[in-house]
Amino acid sequence: METSTEGATRPDIGPAGPGEAADTVVVTGPPADPPAGPPPAVPPASLSPSRASDFMQCPLLYRFRVIDRLPEKPSEAATRGTLVHAVLERLFDAPAGDRTAPRAKSLIPGQWDRLRESRPEVAELFADDPEGERLARWLTEAEALVERWFTLEDPSRLEPAERELFVEAELDSGLRLRGIIDRVDVAPTGEVRIVDYKTGKAPRPEYAEGALFQMKFYALVVWRLKNVIPRRLQLVYLGSGDVLTYDPVLADLERVERKLLALWEAIRRATETGDWRPRPTKLCGWCDHQAHCPEFGGTPPPYPLPLRAPESGVAEQGRMGPD
Ligand code: SF4
Repeated sequence: METSTEGATRPDIGPAGPGEAADTVVVTGPPADPPAGPPPAVPPASLSPSRASDFMQCPLLYRFRVIDRLPEKPSEAATRGTLVHAVLERLFDAPAGDRTAPRAKSLIPGQWDRLRESRPEVAELFADDPEGERLARWLTEAEALVERWFTLEDPSRLEPAERELFVEAELDSGLRLRGIIDRVDVAPTGEVRIVDYKTGKAPRPEYAEGALFQMKFYALVVWRLKNVIPRRLQLVYLGSGDVLTYDPVLADLERVERKLLALWEAIRRATETGDWRPRPTKLCGWCDHQAHCPEFGGTPPPYPLPLRAPESGVAEQGRMGPD
């Protein structure tokens, strides 16, 4: 977790979710000539792809996750994704010739033990499964995902430059972009490939741009950090056995940067005004917060940050697409 700026106070927003860097919201300390009333809340100091996507999907969901930090139950799908990612990462510890499917599958029990140790709450997933049948099925599904990877990539021919790489870069505006890249490959010629594993299915072509948003986000961070535009962005879909690639150019990264700055400005306005609008979609079915959502008859918890009056233009929030 990152720390707030010197002299600032911040609400307790707790740790980020698994495999994610935390976004932060800070409340500014008193200025030299403090006006009457509480100091205004200031926007998040940083953005990750997941939280940016949250805001684009539903501003109220972003609020519940980043500002209220409402707890969420672990899901079987997300936990399986975390497990499979850990297995694929650890397989590269072995010599190239030993990176076989049986070896990868043999890593699953140990990585599941490690996951339960580091995140005891995931054990609750199978608390009502005393015979272990559902757990066994779930582990078999994880094996199938690991096995499918070998039909898409050959790890014996890969030597990743980085695995589970935490990256963070600050834009000229002061916004920090951060995240964790599953794998970075660097060719002998210096070309960089960013790889992300997905345990779900590849999106239909008309939704591919949304899927690539995260990858362009990472490409922007790498460009800002290393002054190198990644040659290729690669999404490996283990659920459907597809590989989606995109070769970005400078204009892509500049467009994503403009997009993120607009997003950050919208988040700043919502942070100050407390005007976080629900944006119901079919994705609400996966939202843990329906009990607090007005769209489902719920009431959000009291807003924990100081407020100022809404300004015009706030109504734009929630209409942003990934690009
Ligand atoms: S239920 Fe839907 S509209 Fe409500 S907070 Fe969740 S994602 Fe947003």
